[in-house]
Amino acid sequence: MRIKISLITTLLLISGCSSFASKDTLPPASLIIKNGQVITMNDNKQLIENGVVVINNDTIIAVGDHSLLSQYDAQRIIDAQNGIVMPGMINTHNHLPMIAFRGLGEEGIENRLFAYFFPLESKKLSRELIYQATRLGAIDLAQSGVTTFADMYYHVDEMAKATKEVGLRAVLGETVIKFPVVDAKQPYGGLEYGQQFINDYKNDPLITPAFAPHAAYTVSKQKLQQINAISKKLNVPVLIHVGEFGNESARISDNPKQLSPVAWLHDIGVLDNRMVLAHAIHVDQADIDLIKQSGAGVAYNPMANAKGATGIAPAWEMYQQQLPMGLGTDGPMSSNQVDLWRTLSYAANMQRLKHNDRTIMIPEQVIELATIGGARALHMEDKIGSLEVGKKADIIIVETQSANMMPNYNPYATLVYQANPSNVSTTIVNGNIVMEQRQMTQVDSADVTKNIRAIEADIAEFAKELAKKAITSPSLMK
Ligand SMILES: [Zn+2]
Repeated sequence: MRIKISLITTLLLISGCSSFASKDTLPPASLIIKNGQVITMNDNKQLIENGVVVINNDTIIAVGDHSLLSQYDAQRIIDAQNGIVMPGMINTHNHLPMIAFRGLGEEGIENRLFAYFFPLESKKLSRELIYQATRLGAIDLAQSGVTTFADMYYHVDEMAKATKEVGLRAVLGETVIKFPVVDAKQPYGGLEYGQQFINDYKNDPLITPAFAPHAAYTVSKQKLQQINAISKKLNVPVLIHVGEFGNESARISDNPKQLSPVAWLHDIGVLDNRMVLAHAIHVDQADIDLIKQSGAGVAYNPMANAKGATGIAPAWEMYQQQLPMGLGTDGPMSSNQVDLWRTLSYAANMQRLKHNDRTIMIPEQVIELATIGGARALHMEDKIGSLEVGKKADIIIVETQSANMMPNYNPYATLVYQANPSNVSTTIVNGNIVMEQRQMTQVDSADVTKNIRAIEADIAEFAKELAKKAITSPSLMK
């Protein structure tokens, strides 16, 4: 950066300008953020005190110290007021529209997925609900500093519309599964739906369209191979659940050797560098080797895995072996929060408990997972995940004035162990301010609230009845 700045200065001098160059000789910047503690997450994990980030349109054009301020003609300057300026966080695994159902089915229901959740979805899910719920979820994400999320759900065209309305970036995967669902009357209807969606959104600046085969045990070998071939041709990511449960090998049909789900995906030729594997809890070293060789990304969801009691992923092992890995929350019925703040401390603490070692997964590494690690997992590290020249301007400002943010000796530790969503003051995506001083700037929040209240009222009674029927948990039957 310094080289570039001195070059510009030299050029200005050569062209006859004095060091007091008039404003119109300076290069333009649409937005400058000043007076921040800048966490760059570049290769050296450089931290810049009293730092400045310069943006022009959708791109970061300079990152450095306060001397940058006099070198650009800025349309707008935001004073970060000593807050932390960092890359927007990346949630690598979600089912965002399920936010309409969060808080339901929390009565200790055994077999919650089949006894509660599937009946709820089959009765209440609709195109309209998916649109409204995604708007709510995207507001929640923006207000908590998540600028990109990866999602596996249905009616992804509605999700794309809602996400763009709020102004976030997303990888949206149309679910492909072996039974009929809300947007496909036929089994595997998502395959066709997904291709149409990819076609419609392949050049969108904010939306990366994708396929989302649900899992190896709910999608046939032949369909997984078909998805792999199409994803190669169209060059789109493939999001899939892998190793979430311990019994997946036995549930995969056409798996006579009882290979692990990772080994099976490799064996049938679909494990590749377009895949993003959600969970990867029940994986061994041989699986980790296969994932590493393939270049597939991993979404580590420690808080959802703890709540669902599905296990602790070997995330420390995968981190040390430099797998492309980021953090996810899973859907809002699995973790109830779509932001990453609590997930940050879970990410570290679960590994420390598992390994009985307090020295591992230090806050700097956790923030790496939440930013550039997430970008690598989604195969988007050339575009997002760090504050570096040439990257898209996805940036958040986290204030450090609130009591919970003081003192701030080590900003990584402050973020991982002290901060909460309300500390995020400003969220910028693709160079656009989507939230400023906690206020959404693009979407009509009042309209979202009105619609969500109506959905809530419609679901509440049905959900209560469903819970009564579904409760079979012995602990509650006593
Ligand atoms: Zn999931």
